Amino acid sequence: MSQDAPIVIIGTGLSGYSLVREIRKQDKEVPVLMITADDGHSYSKPMLSTGFTKGKSADELAQADAAGMTEQLNVELRTHTTVTGIDPEAHCVLIGDERLRYSKLVLAWGADVIRIPLEGDGQEFVYSINDLMDYRAFRKALEGQSRVAIMGAGLIGCEFANDLRNGGYEVDVIAPSDTAMPGLVPPAAGDAVVEALTEEGVRFHLDTVVDRIDHAGDGVKLTLANGETVEAGRVISAVGLRPRVELARSAGLEVARGIVVDRTLKTSADDIYALGDCAEVDGHVLLYVLPLMACSRALAKTLTGTPTDVAYGVMPVMVKTPCCPTAVCPPPPNAEGEWQIERDGRNVRALFKDAQGSVLGFAVTGDYAMEKQALSKEVPPIHG
Ligand code: FAD
Repeated sequence: MSQDAPIVIIGTGLSGYSLVREIRKQDKEVPVLMITADDGHSYSKPMLSTGFTKGKSADELAQADAAGMTEQLNVELRTHTTVTGIDPEAHCVLIGDERLRYSKLVLAWGADVIRIPLEGDGQEFVYSINDLMDYRAFRKALEGQSRVAIMGAGLIGCEFANDLRNGGYEVDVIAPSDTAMPGLVPPAAGDAVVEALTEEGVRFHLDTVVDRIDHAGDGVKLTLANGETVEAGRVISAVGLRPRVELARSAGLEVARGIVVDRTLKTSADDIYALGDCAEVDGHVLLYVLPLMACSRALAKTLTGTPTDVAYGVMPVMVKTPCCPTAVCPPPPNAEGEWQIERDGRNVRALFKDAQGSVLGFAVTGDYAMEKQALSKEVPPIHG
């Protein structure tokens, strides 16, 4: 009975729109309904942490609006519409009291920003930037301000630190780790990034956390656990992302760190698929662009009648810290081996090797970042 219903895709981020582009390569006509909680603008999210360097407003970063995408992709698109539940038995998505039938359902609804509860009356000046609307709101809030404090020294925190310095802002970074990007790159590479950003004028407050944020003038004062205080106009919270799993869990779908899918991107429920930041694909939670592109290509084929497994290749990530170019390809989570590190100032070559000397992952900074392509050829693909 749901066969005449459309393919419903929830989310118009890179996952949702890449998937439809791929579907249209296979089938120009199959009915597709996209639903999004936001305004449906198409944009490249990685560009959000380069916007101050390039002096780009949110409108300038948008590639097309919802009307443009509807026409370009031949889809129906509902914006500012939040899906509140799924009824897998009845093949329906719920939007409050409304029920919409699907033939196939795709969850491309991304990840939530993690928020840390803080003391103090200055919370309204704390911003997270995980979509174009967040970016628009932050740029507006920053008007007339010159100082930004960033909570978190992960990939996103470091990228914003570099970007805001390039944009002429004073920047303080506060993080509990003793270096940048712990967990993603080995400490030597993190240290190189911290040193380069420090030379650019970024002030790091490491090994400590923000205890409270209080109003001070037209900005805020942050009180750190180590007793220091930091004055800032506005604050960015960049402490991490968590795949959105709650609605899936409530609908009875299997979830772990993300919504669990197999290599055909199918969830534990019939006719429901997931990709992008919300999905755990064959055990991998990878909140980056290359994995979602690979998933879009495979899933488009599956949805148009040719069941296809996704094949993850080697997917290095470039960290957008131009003061210290950095490329990383983390080793598989349970890989056995150790990091071998060469360091010459801010040029770090860190290779994760197994007992046979095979390279299973790498992190390269500074001049060595140029070796990304060559090293990528040495690392085995995730799905070999
Ligand atoms: P999202 O873009 O988050 O889209 C989710 C969509 O779902 C949105 O349209 C939202 O409105 C909608 N939605 C959510 N819940 C509901 C609901 N209940 N009902 C209806 N709609 C809903 N990756 C890289 O590989 N390289 C980079 O250089 C890089 N830089 C980055 C820089 C920044 C600042 C950030 C934040 C991320 C960066 N990433 C980078 C990560 C990459 O951008 C993401 O992995 C990718 O954009 C995720 O796309 P998505 O479509 O899965 O999720």
